[in-house]
Amino acid sequence: EPDPTVRPEALPEDTDRALRPQQLDDFIGQAEARANLKVFIQSARQRGEAMDHTLFHGPPGLGKTTLAQIMAKELGVGFRMTSGPVLVKAGDLAAILTNLERNDVLFIDEIHRLNPAVEEVLYPAMEDFELDLVIGEGPAARTVRIELQPFTLVGATTRLGLLTTPLRDRFGIPTRLQFYTEDELHEIVSRNARKLNVPADSDGAREIAKRSRGTPRIAGRLLRRVVDFALVEGDGTISRTLADGALTRLSVDGLGLDGADRRYLRLIAEAYQGGPVGIETMSAALSESRDALEEVIEPFLLQQGLIQRTPRGRMLAQRGWAHLGLAPPQSKSQ
Ligand code: ADP
Repeated sequence: EPDPTVRPEALPEDTDRALRPQQLDDFIGQAEARANLKVFIQSARQRGEAMDHTLFHGPPGLGKTTLAQIMAKELGVGFRMTSGPVLVKAGDLAAILTNLERNDVLFIDEIHRLNPAVEEVLYPAMEDFELDLVIGEGPAARTVRIELQPFTLVGATTRLGLLTTPLRDRFGIPTRLQFYTEDELHEIVSRNARKLNVPADSDGAREIAKRSRGTPRIAGRLLRRVVDFALVEGDGTISRTLADGALTRLSVDGLGLDGADRRYLRLIAEAYQGGPVGIETMSAALSESRDALEEVIEPFLLQQGLIQRTPRGRMLAQRGWAHLGLAPPQSKSQ
């Protein structure tokens, strides 16, 4: 049977690890979340107890996994990682829970995708560090209670609204992660360029920051691609001109939107005169899953004020029309 845990060292895009901040003080941005976590970590250390269960929510690539790893490191405890869809049976989770050591951090990514039978196991585990296991089947079945080591569950989700209320209520520390500002991303890109040993001037790093969709994971990916262009077609350094040329060739526009983002905006503008359009219609027309639209594409477009969500569907906002270089239809222009 496949091991239901995913070890971070086995993750794809392995080179990512080189750029991952290792301590809370290296973690740029999310100032409010960081300041609070610092207090809770220190308090747990002083008490010698497991830190309270923590839920990180927000769009992909903002640092949920990174913060969970940093928490374990700063707490001085072990880190185990798995994800909602990987835990198929109650026994998969039970096997992980019974192997935890005292005060360990267990990270469950995509926790909104837990199977209900697995989620049931999680409630008593989170609340009382206990596991109720059913042994055998039919009339001979009986329940045994197993005591667990105290642990900290760190859940991550891109979709807070899909979490069941009982699960949500069991997290003592719910934390929302925000898109990063251009200045924060500028610092992240500059720091990562230094780690990769590639000279980047400040304007070059800023150009990448500006076009990273408020997201450190995207900043890291774009930086690597710009480095490729700098090495092969440039003089090995990242200037504004070089970054601009490389990003334009990658179809990343001035706001950081990529082809998928622009297809989304154009569909509302051109096929639906600005909307409103229902999400299912959008999903069918774009051949993208509804989840991908809601989790990956829409949050940034909303944050940028390019689209609006209304009860009747998505609409292109004034700024969306302007970004596409189109004029809104007369009847909708006010
Ligand atoms: P999530 O779990 O929210 O999808 P990750 O924690 O996997 O995001 O972060 C994605 C990438 O972005 C990682 O390579 C990580 O190193 C980088 N990253 C995230 N947050 C920061 C930050 N505040 N500073 C620097 N790099 C960051």
